[in-house]
Amino acid sequence: MMSERIVNILVTGGAGFIGSHLCEALLAKKHNVICVDNLGSGDAKNIQHLLQNKNFLFIKHDIINSLQIDGKIDQIFHLASRASPIDYQQYPVETALSNAIGTHNLIKLTLEKNAVLLFSSTSETYGDPLQHPQKETYWGNVNPIGIRSCYDESKRFGEALLMAYSREYKAKIKIIRIFNTYGPRMRKNDGRVIPNFITQALNNKPITLYGDGKQTRSFCYVDDLVAGIIKMMDSKEIGPVKLGNPKELIELANMVKKLTNSKSEIVFKQLPEDDPTRRCPDISVAKKVLSWEPKVELEDGLKRTTQWFKEN
Ligand code: UDP
Repeated sequence: MMSERIVNILVTGGAGFIGSHLCEALLAKKHNVICVDNLGSGDAKNIQHLLQNKNFLFIKHDIINSLQIDGKIDQIFHLASRASPIDYQQYPVETALSNAIGTHNLIKLTLEKNAVLLFSSTSETYGDPLQHPQKETYWGNVNPIGIRSCYDESKRFGEALLMAYSREYKAKIKIIRIFNTYGPRMRKNDGRVIPNFITQALNNKPITLYGDGKQTRSFCYVDDLVAGIIKMMDSKEIGPVKLGNPKELIELANMVKKLTNSKSEIVFKQLPEDDPTRRCPDISVAKKVLSWEPKVELEDGLKRTTQWFKEN
């Protein structure tokens, strides 16, 4: 088993929301972790507590520029990319390049080190999906020139590039498609629905429901997701494998309001352009090949997340 020996691991985007939880989990397994982050949407505070760990090294670097690492690298987890719609629409070029050029730089490093590269792709590869719930075999419905395309299409390109290098150069690659994830260390102003609702509810400010509020998502607690990411790396699978919570949800606003004892009213705002109507993963592949499924109930995860937002 991989986890029984010390593995030298590179995590890009390791100071971000998901990346920092991943670094923590890998260090808990006694592995050596190098965290690379440009601190664009990542935050040094997320890894502050890891800096004393002798197995942890932080390098501030933008993976759009080529990356040289001395010594052995066995595994690379490529998570570096802006991931919130508001964020990547503000930085579309940076977002597109981190998934295109950044991924290319990491593939080159993967080949040089004879390592395994895991690329974190996204449910957004399906765009506004016409199949529901989405299976890995579904190819998606993406607007290639829309305001989300800097993210969607660059993630799709990243997947295509990994497959090309796998076919032509036998690069060792893995692809996961991450669905909506939440938990401590999400940025309170990153515009995504859970930090928005929690911050609004805690401050008794109006909870902003976009459109008619009937669009659906499914939310996976970050610890569950990280367990799935590590299982994928330790498996023989190439993927793509979807990781997410298969419980589809509409009624988030009232749930957050109740959990926070908030006096907030729920107000309707305009639906953002190209906002997918429904999104829910079919996780039968992850269940079968990784023996993975989310364990944390939404209410429990929201309580933990709310607590973190209160303390921070
Ligand atoms: N949303 C909302 N209110 C908000 C923020 C988001 O109703 O304050 C909706 C948004 O329109 C989308 C869903 O919540 O349908 C999830 O949005 P998010 O930005 O979290 O991520 P997405 O799944 O769209 O990438």
